[in-house]
Amino acid sequence: MLKKKTSTGNGDYCCLDCGYKLFGKSDIVHSPNLGGQCNAIYLKFMPWIGFTRGNVSKIFCPNSRCNVVLGFTNQKGGKCHCGYFVDRMFVIYPPKVTNSIKQRAQQSNRLF
Ligand SMILES: [Zn+2]
Ligand SMILES: [Zn+2]
Repeated sequence: MLKKKTSTGNGDYCCLDCGYKLFGKSDIVHSPNLGGQCNAIYLKFMPWIGFTRGNVSKIFCPNSRCNVVLGFTNQKGGKCHCGYFVDRMFVIYPPKVTNSIKQRAQQSNRLF
């Protein structure tokens, strides 16, 4: 019997623009439910987010060639739209990431 390789697709989320692996399911503290009011993914602190100054700042893709804005942090914490309270918010916008393996690498038609 051959073992099936499932190296990716374990719920890892990647940057939609460059495919950089950002976080896994276990790093999510709160995420949108189907039919729920949640509109963002809330993460634990991730090393690639880095040290942020001030209470509120943007989260950028750690890939220096990409550097797209993925979300924001709020050290004071806050509430999700559904009412769930998050202590230190590391908020990722769902349209900015993908957990699909069949993701085309060249989807960005942005003009620089
Ligand atoms: Zn990226
Ligand atoms: Zn929520």
